[in-house]
Amino acid sequence: MFLFENIYIVLVGITHPGNIGGAARAMRNMGLTQLRLVQPKLFPHAEATARASGACDVLAKTQVYDNFAESIQDCHLVCGTSARSRTINWEILSPRDSVEKVLLTSQKVAIVFGREHAGLTNEELDHCHYLIQIPTVADFSSLNVAAAVQVIAYELRCAQMANETSLIKEPAETLATAESMQRFYEHLRQTLIEIDFLDPTNPRQLIRRLQRLYNRSQLTESEINILRGILTATQKQCKVKL
Ligand code: SAH
Repeated sequence: MFLFENIYIVLVGITHPGNIGGAARAMRNMGLTQLRLVQPKLFPHAEATARASGACDVLAKTQVYDNFAESIQDCHLVCGTSARSRTINWEILSPRDSVEKVLLTSQKVAIVFGREHAGLTNEELDHCHYLIQIPTVADFSSLNVAAAVQVIAYELRCAQMANETSLIKEPAETLATAESMQRFYEHLRQTLIEIDFLDPTNPRQLIRRLQRLYNRSQLTESEINILRGILTATQKQCKVKL
């Protein structure tokens, strides 16, 4: 019986199959079994199986996706990981603080890891509520991706063992899924264009900044419905005035 059935480790664009096996093993040691891959270069592969050691059960049920948005669309909390600080202000959490947030919910959570050479794109990070950074020395901050999975999986295990019952609480209300957040952002973008607040030929960073703002708030489904209701009413008023 695994305690982390709602936690999905998502690996994006991995080129070395050995890293997939290494991540599967790291997960299985700590009680995680849900692995999702987005456009792996080679999978299944003998090198992945070899590096997974005994964790073949994790590889056997690994799900493979063509695009990132699909791989997280049923998740209510999405955490990205990065070795680098990004230009736009993110809420950056340590592995320890991030697992506390993850363990507060029994809804589906994605913890996302990036490509060996390039990490995650800003577009991929736009889907994330938080950014997790593993603290390292300043001049050598990038871990091997399977090692990064190990650190987060270990913190999950420690937090779960330290506080078996009191940490695991139900949230008061269901958080919106990544899919409804994306639909809301598209609605927001469309409305901002209609009211001439956003110039589609020169969007700059506006939508990205708004995404950060709303992602920080961790909206529930009913809050999303209120916001979309306001957008629809705004669009109606705009059409009446035309
Ligand atoms: N040059 C890339 C490094 C990619 S390392 C970059 O700057 O982003 C591959 C992946 O391992 C990263 O995308 C991230 O998911 C994870 N990773 C590596 N080092 C990390 C760190 N210090 N903190 C959090 N995640 C890290």
